[in-house]
Formats: sequence, structure tokens, C-alpha cells
Amino acid sequence: MATILIIEDEVNIASLLQTCVESEGYCCHVAYDGKTGLAAFRRLEPDLIILDLMLPEMDGLEVCTQIRQSGVRKDPYVMMLTAKGEEIDRIIGYSTGADDYLPKPFSPTELLVRIRALLRRTMRHQETLKIETPHLQIDLERRSVFLKALESDAIAVHLSALEFDVLATLANRPGRVWTRTQLLDHVWGGDFTGDDRIVDSYIKRLRHKLGQGNAESYPFIKTVSGVGYAFEDT
Ligand code: CA
Repeated sequence: MATILIIEDEVNIASLLQTCVESEGYCCHVAYDGKTGLAAFRRLEPDLIILDLMLPEMDGLEVCTQIRQSGVRKDPYVMMLTAKGEEIDRIIGYSTGADDYLPKPFSPTELLVRIRALLRRTMRHQETLKIETPHLQIDLERRSVFLKALESDAIAVHLSALEFDVLATLANRPGRVWTRTQLLDHVWGGDFTGDDRIVDSYIKRLRHKLGQGNAESYPFIKTVSGVGYAFEDT
């Protein structure tokens, strides 16, 4: 069963989250501040972290950034809890690497639907093992991505779990145009009820990482005006 870490300073909400998560049989741990949460994350290597945005001292954005930069072997899914829907715009703007956003107040049903949708994704992309394009090597089994360089060794590109899945989905069918809704269905799962602009945020991060910091070159992922996105490697 999956391990879920809850980082939430409000005791009542933490307790509600814990009750929900445990009722589904997940293994659950709770931390009440960012620093303790990060320590628990390193110790437990959870599959999913439910992370409150507003935490004392170190806020959820900072915690999420540190999780993504930690270099641990197992990259967890991060679901960010926000107090108001509007804050989602702000978080997406930060591009910290959260995989989903859940506004408070939330219903236990919605919480569990989203947890299941995220955890189910771990099982995907088993059909083909490798995708090779002129400049990219994507290993679906090891979940690694390398940029082929002309005069040196291939360069590893470090992606979060969902960033990897978005890239693998696009690269598996070069030239195919995906709408945001199709990408959400395929990568996040049909249960996803959040804002489809989350797709734009992932594309932005992927371009940044694949472009080695030079997002202007828009490598590999083309915007198809008025429709969505397509993979292109020429
Ligand atoms: Ca809080």
C-alpha cells in the first residue's frame, strides 16, 4: 500500500486528512511544520505528500522546492492544499513542482478521488520501454531522460514524476496534437477536476528543463495555436 505524508499545521485539518487517508488503507504520517515534514520525507520516502501552502516559518512552496531538489531516489507526488481557489494562479506562477492543487474546504470524497488518480499513474507507460528521437532518449522503465549531445556524453534531464509522464505521452506520438483536456485525461486521469491551466505550467517547466535553462528555444514541445501541444524533434 502507498505511503502518504501529510504536512499541515492546523491540527483539525491534519486529523481530518489522516482519517480519510487511513480509511482507504494507506499508510499515513503527519508533520505539523515544514522542517519536520522535510525530515519525515527523507526518512519515509512517501509515494505522495499532501502539503499545506500556508505553514509557519517555511511555507509549502519552499517545502515543495526542497522536495524537488532533494535528489532522493523516489520522487513523490505532491498535492498542495490552498486556502482559496485564487491562490492556485499564484502557485502555478511559481512552478514549484506540485502535481495537483486542492482548495480548502474540500470534501473527503474529492480528496480520495484525487489521491487515487495520482497514485494510479505510477502504473502507466508500460507498453514500450524506450522512446528515441533525434535528440532525446527516454527510458520508460528507468524513467530517465537524456539529451543527446553532439560532442560529449548525453546530458541527464531531471524531471518530476508528472513532468516525465507529460513528456513521455507527447514524445510517444511525435506530431500528434494534444489538447489540454486530452493531456489531462491521459496523464492525470479522468478523475482530475482541477484547472486545465496546470498543463501549461507543466509545458513551461518541461521546455525550461529540456532547453537547459533556455526556454526561449521552445525545444521539442510546439504550441499549436488555439488547440494545444505537440512533440517535435527535428
Ligand atoms: Ca496552514
